[in-house]
Amino acid sequence: MNKAKYPFLDLGLVNAVYADRIKEAVCRVIDSGRYIGGEENSTFERKMSELTEADCIVGTSNGLDALRLSIMALIISGRLHRGDKVMVAANTYIASILAITDAGLTPQLVDPDDDSMLLTGDIVRQNITADTKAIMPVHLYGRVAWDESMGLIAQERNLIVIEDAAQSIGAKAHVKGLFRSSRAGALGHIGAFSFYPTKNIGALGDAGAIATHDPELADICRALANYGSDRRYHNFYRGYNCRLDPMQAAILSVKLDYCANETQERFARAVAYENTISNPLIRKPSISRMPTDSVWHQYVIRCPRRDELQEFLARHGVQTDIHYAVPPHMQPCYSTLPHRPLPITEQIASEVLSLPITPACTSVKDASDIGRIINQFK
Ligand SMILES: *Cc1c(COP(=O)(O)O)cnc(C)c1O
Repeated sequence: MNKAKYPFLDLGLVNAVYADRIKEAVCRVIDSGRYIGGEENSTFERKMSELTEADCIVGTSNGLDALRLSIMALIISGRLHRGDKVMVAANTYIASILAITDAGLTPQLVDPDDDSMLLTGDIVRQNITADTKAIMPVHLYGRVAWDESMGLIAQERNLIVIEDAAQSIGAKAHVKGLFRSSRAGALGHIGAFSFYPTKNIGALGDAGAIATHDPELADICRALANYGSDRRYHNFYRGYNCRLDPMQAAILSVKLDYCANETQERFARAVAYENTISNPLIRKPSISRMPTDSVWHQYVIRCPRRDELQEFLARHGVQTDIHYAVPPHMQPCYSTLPHRPLPITEQIASEVLSLPITPACTSVKDASDIGRIINQFK
């Protein structure tokens, strides 16, 4: 295949920017002789705690495990019970739903807001039932799914708030969360991050983290990730092995230093798209709420003839991606999952198209060029 003039994402380029510091970090781990846990993990957790304003951070093997352990800790601590319903927007990545069903809870799939493509407080209010015990706002595409009304209904109805912050490292809501932070992942009772290589801050392999203000939940998560062991050779829970690799922790400690700068660069590309794209066939993401409440993990436009648009762009050298073409409830593994009709979710899946936005691969000028190409689509 020919190299596209405007590639969607080249992870080699993304990490080349930090290559010297990453190599230094990896060498430090090699020389340390400590390959599980240790200081690298503590440094990473301290940096994540500063970024999210969460009291406790627990590094994990990946984002799905961070979500799974978070939910299990809520069950172990008696705050959730098997069979409880967790309300979640149906247009999410499948990992959100896998974590819910894996823990023996029931996903209550709802359509997101058609404009923001996120769960909102009003949607929670409209769909809540006596069985709804938790909500899982997914900060999809880097935008924070949190508003005043969501905080109010969570408090009124004693809902547990589990955030899927996999796509929103460093994002900030404009209203405060349930506790003292207004940062994605630290708005509710517990939140999960992913550092999958393509995420807005990516490891060089799998990595994740849990954020919470509750030391009890953090201790349970840390034990669960380490064979259920609360101290050496004492297994309090039937746990797992879901620890964060210190090599990834060391690499992430480098990249977290540049998180704010990365976000600013992504925002500049989003602005270029916003200012250039003016095609009546295209629906752009709203940018007015910016820049604080999105880290622009993806810039996602909508078009009723999405597949044609994607081919048109490919012919003009613009590589794009789709997040996500098949929603979880339409995947074979969930063919028996009960749910209400989800027309907005299904329409979103047929219309969304992600444009290149990663700073290392796409310049602001590239974004304007791509915008002008999009304007030629008829
Ligand atoms: C990536 C992602 C996850 C899972 O993270 P992994 O590190 O890949 O396990 C969960 N939820 C969402 C919304 C994601 O985008």
